[in-house]
Amino acid sequence: MTPIDSDTQTELFDICIVGAGMAGATIAAYLAPKGIKIAIIDRDYTQKERIVGELLQPGAVETLKKMKLEHLLEGFDSQPVYGYALFQNDKKFTIAYNKNSDTQFHGTGLHNGRFLQKIRTDALKSKNITQLYGTVSDLIEDENKVITGVQYREKQTRETRSISAKLTIMSDGFFSSFRKDLSNNKETVTSFFIGLVLKNCLLPYPSHGHVFLSAPTPFICYPISSTETRLLIDFPGTKAPKKEEIKEHITQKVLPFIPAEFLECVKTSIATNDFKVMPNHYMPAKPVLREGAVLLGDALNMRHPITGGGLTAVFNDVQLLGNHLLAMPNFDDPKLLHKKITAYYTDRFHANTNVNIMANALYGVMSNPELKVAVFEYLAKGGDSSNGPISLLSGLNRNPGVLIKHFIYVALLCISHLITGKGNGGISKALGVVRDTFCIIWPLAYNELRFSSFFKKNTQH
Ligand SMILES: Cc1cc2nc3c(=O)[nH]c(=O)nc-3n(C[C@H](O)[C@H](O)[C@H](O)COP(=O)(O)OP(=O)(O)OC[C@H]3O[C@@H](n4cnc5c(N)ncnc54)[C@H](O)[C@@H]3O)c2cc1C
Repeated sequence: MTPIDSDTQTELFDICIVGAGMAGATIAAYLAPKGIKIAIIDRDYTQKERIVGELLQPGAVETLKKMKLEHLLEGFDSQPVYGYALFQNDKKFTIAYNKNSDTQFHGTGLHNGRFLQKIRTDALKSKNITQLYGTVSDLIEDENKVITGVQYREKQTRETRSISAKLTIMSDGFFSSFRKDLSNNKETVTSFFIGLVLKNCLLPYPSHGHVFLSAPTPFICYPISSTETRLLIDFPGTKAPKKEEIKEHITQKVLPFIPAEFLECVKTSIATNDFKVMPNHYMPAKPVLREGAVLLGDALNMRHPITGGGLTAVFNDVQLLGNHLLAMPNFDDPKLLHKKITAYYTDRFHANTNVNIMANALYGVMSNPELKVAVFEYLAKGGDSSNGPISLLSGLNRNPGVLIKHFIYVALLCISHLITGKGNGGISKALGVVRDTFCIIWPLAYNELRFSSFFKKNTQH
């Protein structure tokens, strides 16, 4: 029996999870089987066709394994991904994900909607979880400003109801209505992704993510089922493209740079006109500590999706928060609960520093005419020049020193080419690159780097 909250005469849960999306459903699947009483609420549990969260980097797959949730990746035609293929003009090469003595790490391409339904079904199997349908409208606070639950409008009856819980996990996604109550976060739109599905398209390198660096802005693709490939095309700027702009962008800035092998697939897909557009946000985490509530997922932190790092960060956070909560004997000590939330916010910086910096730094580099030539050449060298960066991109390496080292090497390579005349430009362009490099890395380093992260022991996943 779930206890009753004496003030509201409603059931009192250990945890109320707002938003059964990737973050909310996964933490429910992790905690509910361990005896924690959970209420989970979402406004819509139907399966969606989304263009987000379709490539899991090895870091995300490994974290699922650590939480014993890797079975959630099976049974819906998800695809293994073994590394990346990079294309620039007529040059191309592949980089394999890292391996250690007993594991060849791999990522997974999948339909986000199918994956999410699988996670939800798994979580809802537990007898400790209560599923609620509705839109959360308000946080409930007591006289000491401690958050004690939420108010919501029930989907069927349209009645206003409340949920009482010792902890509210706010995981209401990138358009979160509640991050303003629990953080000082400010989101900025970096660009947009235009998403298309290519059907029965034979990729130049099957089971690989493909990155194309010849066009004015980058585009990427990867398998999401045995017959489908997701193509994501970057559209720079802060204003969403209109239908006509999308067509013009693709015709002029993408099609001329598509390798002949799959040009027909792309043309067929464009003809269906089935484009989906999503904004790409950058939002460093600036949580405000409030008793009784915590932020999780995109409500707390976002980065450019070019590296597919979102779910690596989400699952890192789910595991960290989950483990802190599981370390408590019960949820009856509000002071201990608050300590655990504080520890989660501190620990997650270290876990996600590289994922966050890498995403926006790489997007900056790939959108810069000089730096993108240099990064392609640098990665093509192989050895540490590709093993280091891929370990960062895949979310396996948490050491910020490694990231800074490779970023500086790429910048130096670019500058030396410009100065020695190998690139087109000379000194003035080289100075421009120094400025661009600084403008890319400085705000990210300022927002994301914590001095202590350099000294943490678990730099490897
Ligand atoms: C274009 C794009 C591509 C991406 N590609 C990748 C990728 O390939 N790999 C990767 O790892 N990451 C990727 N990401 C990032 C990744 O998708 C997100 O980090 C992840 O989905 C965040 O999960 P979430 O649970 O925080 O949010 P969501 O999954 O959006 O879940 C939020 C949930 O909250 C519910 N909700 C919201 N408000 C309320 C309310 N008031 N009341 C009740 N319910 C509510 C919603 O219905 C929803 O179910 C991409 C992002 C973008 C924008």
